Amino acid sequence: MDTFTAVFFLGILVEMVIRAPLNKKRKLEKMSERRVTSQEKWLLFLLLIGMFILPILYAATDWLDFANYTLPTWAGWLGVVLIAAAVFVFWRAHADLGLNWSPTLEIREKHELITRGIYSVIRHPMYASQVLWSIAQVLLLQNWIAGFASLIVFIPFYFLRVRAEEQLMLEQFGDQYRSYMQRVGGVFPKF
Ligand code: SAH
Repeated sequence: MDTFTAVFFLGILVEMVIRAPLNKKRKLEKMSERRVTSQEKWLLFLLLIGMFILPILYAATDWLDFANYTLPTWAGWLGVVLIAAAVFVFWRAHADLGLNWSPTLEIREKHELITRGIYSVIRHPMYASQVLWSIAQVLLLQNWIAGFASLIVFIPFYFLRVRAEEQLMLEQFGDQYRSYMQRVGGVFPKF
């Protein structure tokens, strides 16, 4: 395995370590609202294929080798910088959102609207982290299928998810979320 592929899988490992304790704790939470449509399940399944399954096939088999490309070395290192930034933003988002985090759209009984920490800079740091990750993947996994898989899946996921999520947050928090949206940008900070 080359260095850049190894860095990609190290990134996955670190994100799993960040998420694991929260995933365990949140199972004990009582939820007041769940919006898990079949569209949502499909999008999460495709995200798993793009972010995990295809990269594993790329690294562990020669099935995708026909679609390899070679970038200059600096592009691979740019990928390392971007994936480090993605993991940093992912970590801060989990630290600030705490038990209000969920993999699907859910509101817990004690749900709190978080507007502090990284959520005072952007409203969707986890999705911003995924944008950085998807670009890093193109640079680290130099293959037309495995490299672009996250980017291709993430674009429809982002637009469908954000719309449903903001709808849910508006229903739950009303004017509090409306004024948060006016003050703070989505995946890019507002200046
Ligand atoms: N869009 C956010 C959170 C993704 S996790 C991000 O990119 O960081 C998805 C869950 O987070 C949703 O079920 C929603 O209930 C919750 N959520 C999203 N924004 C929130 C906020 N500012 N405060 C509390 N919960 C939030």
